[in-house]
Amino acid sequence: MGEEIEKTNVWSEKRDTGEKCSNCDRPIFEGKVHFWGTTQVYKITCQCEIDKRNEQRKADEEAQRRRYIADLRHRSGLPRKWENVTFENFEPRKGTERACKACINYAEQFPSVQSRGIGMYLFGTSGSGKTRLAASIANKLLDKGISVKWWNVTSLYLEIQGTFNGNGSSQEILDDCTNAGLLILDDMGAEKPSEWTMATMYDILNTRIDDVLPTIITSNLKLEELANKADPRVISRIRDKDIFPHIADDATDYRRVEK
Ligand SMILES: [Zn+2]
Repeated sequence: MGEEIEKTNVWSEKRDTGEKCSNCDRPIFEGKVHFWGTTQVYKITCQCEIDKRNEQRKADEEAQRRRYIADLRHRSGLPRKWENVTFENFEPRKGTERACKACINYAEQFPSVQSRGIGMYLFGTSGSGKTRLAASIANKLLDKGISVKWWNVTSLYLEIQGTFNGNGSSQEILDDCTNAGLLILDDMGAEKPSEWTMATMYDILNTRIDDVLPTIITSNLKLEELANKADPRVISRIRDKDIFPHIADDATDYRRVEK
């Protein structure tokens, strides 16, 4: 008798061996397989064994998916304080409902907006909950296995400047920014502007727009206020509402009422 065989479509003349499976007590069958002019008899693998292997395969795939997502999360740079923020635990309040809805739609329609390179300019006063909303988008997409890169804009500049004395590679940081499936730039306009910060931001945004990759920008400032702090070419890019729909988050300080 040959080895056990699982593929039930290749054997013929199924026959009860009279034996029982030691695991599930089902009868054990054998079958003949004809190929290349020869005939071999195989024990047919018990269904309980097939089920067990399938379950194991599913568990392995799930574990692999979890590892992949954990790695994506790790590399995303999303701060730990935003790790568990979701739309489900966001409580929309007066003034923030529209921004909340826009962000939920954005996350749900991501494959479509991504293919068109559509991002968002999400602005509102400090504490209005816009960073929380942007983090909810990030978490939703990371859970789906989409690469997201998160940078607080001030930290991004500091991190790049930190490489200038030979620590790490600024190119690597910039490549991470320009290649991510979604780049989220949090709190634009809070940084101290310089010619260098302006030129750097223009390079990042321009590269992403040319590559049709979406970027979400959050800011405490309306665009006309941001104009004092950013390269005019950056402002002109963000003014393009086909690429950066402007979403106002008008809620009063979210942190003050947060439970
Ligand atoms: Zn069995």
